[in-house]
Amino acid sequence: MCIFCRIIDGSLGATIRWQNEMWIAIDDIHPKAKTHVLLVSKTHIESLEQAMDQALLESGLSTVQMVARTLGLVEAGYKTVINTGRGAGQIVDHLHIHLLSGNIGNV
Ligand code: 5GP
Ligand code: ZN
Repeated sequence: MCIFCRIIDGSLGATIRWQNEMWIAIDDIHPKAKTHVLLVSKTHIESLEQAMDQALLESGLSTVQMVARTLGLVEAGYKTVINTGRGAGQIVDHLHIHLLSGNIGNV
């Protein structure tokens, strides 16, 4: 089972910031900004390239909005990143959206 599936089933610890039926927001273990949250799909999908569920994809961006508002990131601004494939820096093969705010390096 992959590390994000283990976090979702509770066998691996993580700081959970928000969740709904389809997505769970956790703190990244190696933050690259003042706030670095990962929105992880609750079902195991390898990457954006494998994501076929339209409802899941549509809810992804509204979940980003919701989490950014809930965590008070709107005023400071925030950046979202989805790495797809090794060549783009994807390390964990389970769909996730990075949400970064504060002290973000240039991308
Ligand atoms: P990727 O490079 O696949 O887009 O991003 C994977 C992210 O998962 C990285 O930013 C990495 O720091 C984070 N990460 C790796 N292992 C763990 C873990 O066990 N717990 C948490 N919360 N984040 C992790
Ligand atoms: Zn998984």
